Amino acid sequence: MNEVVQRLLPGPVVTDGAWGTELQLAGLGAGDCTDAWNVQHPDRVEVVARAYVDAGSHVILTNTFGANRLQLARHGLAREVAAINRAGVAISRRAAGTSAAVFASLGPTGRLLGMGQTTESELREVYSEQARALAEAGADALVLETFADLDELRPAIAAAKEMEMTVVASMVFDSGARHDRTMMGTTPERAAEAMAEAGADVIGANCGRGSSGYVAVCQRMRQTVEHPLWIKPNAGLPELIDGKTIYRTSAADFVHDVLDIVAAGASFVGGCCGTNPGYLGAVAMALRDRRANR
Ligand SMILES: [Zn+2]
Repeated sequence: MNEVVQRLLPGPVVTDGAWGTELQLAGLGAGDCTDAWNVQHPDRVEVVARAYVDAGSHVILTNTFGANRLQLARHGLAREVAAINRAGVAISRRAAGTSAAVFASLGPTGRLLGMGQTTESELREVYSEQARALAEAGADALVLETFADLDELRPAIAAAKEMEMTVVASMVFDSGARHDRTMMGTTPERAAEAMAEAGADVIGANCGRGSSGYVAVCQRMRQTVEHPLWIKPNAGLPELIDGKTIYRTSAADFVHDVLDIVAAGASFVGGCCGTNPGYLGAVAMALRDRRANR
C-alpha cells in the first residue's frame, strides 16, 4: 500500500457518492458516453468532483468507470482509452487540490467470460491498458468497482497490480433471497477471500440494494479478512415514479447505516447510485460528531 493510502488509514475515510446521476443532472443524455465527457465537458465533470470535495470527501474517484476499450467501443471510442482516462484523473486532481486523494475508477467490461463473450487474456489486456493510463496520469490508487463476476475481477486485479498501484477491489451484492450474494451467487466471505488471494490491498462492496444490507456484508467481510474494507452502498434501487427516477433510501437513513458500517469495521465509506453530495456531506458531519463525542 502506498504512502497516500497508508496516511488515510485506519479511517474512517469519507469517499464520494454517485457521479452518473449527478452528470445526468448536468445534462448527460441517456445514450451519451459518460466517460467521454472528460474530454467533451471537463468543466461539468469537475463541478461534480468539486461538489464532493466541498461536501467533505477525503477520497474522490474519477469519471472513468466505463473507460475501458470494450465499453468505449460501443460509442466508437475504443482508441480514446488513454486520452479519456488521463483527462479523468486530471479533472479529479484539479478538484481535489490538497484536500482529497484521487482514486481512479475502473468498472466491468460488460462481457461475460463464462458465456464466451471475452477471454481471460483479452480482459487482462483491456485492464492493463486502462490501469496504465490511470497510473501514468498520477492516480493515488485504482478502484475496481461494481464487479459481479470473480472471473472478470481476477484478471483486472492482476493488471492493476502490475502497475505497482494500491488496488481496491469491490463487488456488488444484490442477488439471492437475502440480497447478500453477487449475481453469480458468490457470498461476501468467498468474495473477500478471493479478492485477497488475487492481491487486492483494500476489499469491499458497492452499489447493491440500499445501505441497510451492507452492514451485514461488511461484518461478514471483516470476519473473513484483515484488509482495510471499502463499503459504498447505493440509496436503494431506482424506481420510476411519474416519469422521475427516485431512490427510496433517505439521506438520514443512509447516514444511520453508514455509521453502523463504520462500527462493523469499514475504513472507507461512501455512496453509490442515488447518493449525492448532500448524502456525503451528512455522512462527513455525522463522522465528525462521532469523533467529537468520544
Ligand atoms: Zn451503484
